Amino acid sequence: MRFNELNLSQEIIDAVEELGFTEMTDIQQQSIPLLLKGADVIGRSNTGTGKTAAFGIPAVESITDVNKKSVAVLILCPTRELAMQACEEIRKFSKYKRIVKTSAVYGGASMERQIMELKRGANIVIGTPGRVIDHINRHTLKLDNIRTVILDEADEMLNMGFREDIESILSKMPEEKQTVLFSATMPPEILAITEKYQHEPVQIKIKSAQKTVESVKQYYFMTAMGRKTDALKLLLTAYSPESAMIFCNTKKMVDELTEELVKSGIRATGLHGDMKQAQRTQVMNSFKSKSTSVLIATDVAARGIDVSDIDAVFNYDIPQDNEYYIHRIGRTGRAGRTGNAYTLITSRRQQYELKDIAKYTKAEITELPLPDKADIIETKKEKIIQKIVEMPSAPDNVSDILDKLASMGIDYHEVSARIINSILQKEIESLPEFDMPKPLKKGKKSGAKTVKIDISIGRSKRIAPNFILGALVDATGMSGKDFGKIDIFDNHTTVEIPETETDYILDTTNPMKINGNKVEVRLYKGNAVKEKTDKVRRTEKASKPDRRKSAYGRRKKSSIFGDYTPNRKKRTKKRH
Ligand code: ADP
Ligand code: MG
Repeated sequence: MRFNELNLSQEIIDAVEELGFTEMTDIQQQSIPLLLKGADVIGRSNTGTGKTAAFGIPAVESITDVNKKSVAVLILCPTRELAMQACEEIRKFSKYKRIVKTSAVYGGASMERQIMELKRGANIVIGTPGRVIDHINRHTLKLDNIRTVILDEADEMLNMGFREDIESILSKMPEEKQTVLFSATMPPEILAITEKYQHEPVQIKIKSAQKTVESVKQYYFMTAMGRKTDALKLLLTAYSPESAMIFCNTKKMVDELTEELVKSGIRATGLHGDMKQAQRTQVMNSFKSKSTSVLIATDVAARGIDVSDIDAVFNYDIPQDNEYYIHRIGRTGRAGRTGNAYTLITSRRQQYELKDIAKYTKAEITELPLPDKADIIETKKEKIIQKIVEMPSAPDNVSDILDKLASMGIDYHEVSARIINSILQKEIESLPEFDMPKPLKKGKKSGAKTVKIDISIGRSKRIAPNFILGALVDATGMSGKDFGKIDIFDNHTTVEIPETETDYILDTTNPMKINGNKVEVRLYKGNAVKEKTDKVRRTEKASKPDRRKSAYGRRKKSSIFGDYTPNRKKRTKKRH
């Protein structure tokens, strides 16, 4: 069904047409007629299915001269970005309907400006619950004439702890009104609100996000826990997406990962709820305009954000909830394009979790090997060749430079080699320094020979065994059970490890941080295999013919990582 088949006023039809909308989406087709009639509605539909228009168009249509100067529609959204975004879109629908005045009210922005907009007679107000309450308390937002209240992303608002605020707002409104609720999921808390505040609501449920999910190809990669960032750098370099979103489960991780990627020369920015409004707006704008190509965000910060041409979504952390997964990958593959979603997995358990997600989304999530560093470099070389072939031949205005260089002993070949090399280095600057270690799976044989490692931190730094174990598990991706006795001394700590894993553990734990302190990990020099100095250890390693014989390494051979150069080789090489 098309928008112009609805009984909408010409001003709105014109505006919608101008936006390029012709056919309605399912949720729009089902909810707009009901909302125009004034019914209470519960709408469930996935992200990217056009819910803003589903409630925004009827809201704009509902404004008449009677509401010229008072708030008639209140829309609550979970975050500032969503409120701003919904407001922008509704402004577009009301472009030709002059009596509609919208105002977005959210925290972290000037109160004065919002008060002014409200005073000027805003009749559609879009806001976050906290700031809306603020305005209600200051009497700058009056609820007496409200006829429609809309809760957008209701489940997310409850997740964020807005239940009390929402109830307080709803209870202050006139009895006689239309209450509309959009939500991706229907937890019991929502039903409670529905029962209390809605009147014979009509439920609309659009079957799962086929549309979103089908247009997104989904993959996952296995990697060691401590190597997720390196894995991500490899992937970003290999795929070089023009626009990508990376999801983390915590704000702290967003900050750390952003810093790490920026350090590697990747144009990345982070987005999360602790940031100042101005900063968040700036981040969004630079991502939308492609000045930054990678946006790292938490679920809450990114919820509902509408950027239409994202090539790839990376789940740095596996989402805590199936719905989150759908929301995350729904950021790509929008508006008729296809997109790719990649998830990093660091354990068996997570692999099972992902299987569960795949079942839930009825989609296939295919395992892929992490790209090999050498392959990436080869591909980049090919690309450079391609680029140079496609370049227009240069006008003869640089031969003087070439001649000058030649006179300095840098001939044409050397000039091209230097330039090409600098392009190549730029392309691969974010590649991690070491190759990726094999994926780790449990499989410790009992009675295996052990050695001890020595970690340069001890009791004087208030270190407890669980800090040590946590850091080791984190860095190596091994299981806590793989590590033996931990002895904490004043200034150092020893930990028993399986001998077969010595090289791997030393590779993956240097550098390592424990409780914020950078530590050094080496083989403990005070016991049998043990008495060897660093130098001896290295020599011995270099002469060991096949490192893959280790318990972990054996699995490696058949692993998704393919062959790789052991880090050890590199280190030894550097020394010579
Ligand atoms: P949701 O709130 O369901 O996640 P949005 O309202 O943010 O989805 O809409 C997603 C995108 O789809 C927006 O860019 C919007 O402009 C666009 N859109 C919405 N309805 C239509 C339509 N009927 N035809 C084309 N594009 C649409
Ligand atoms: Mg939305």
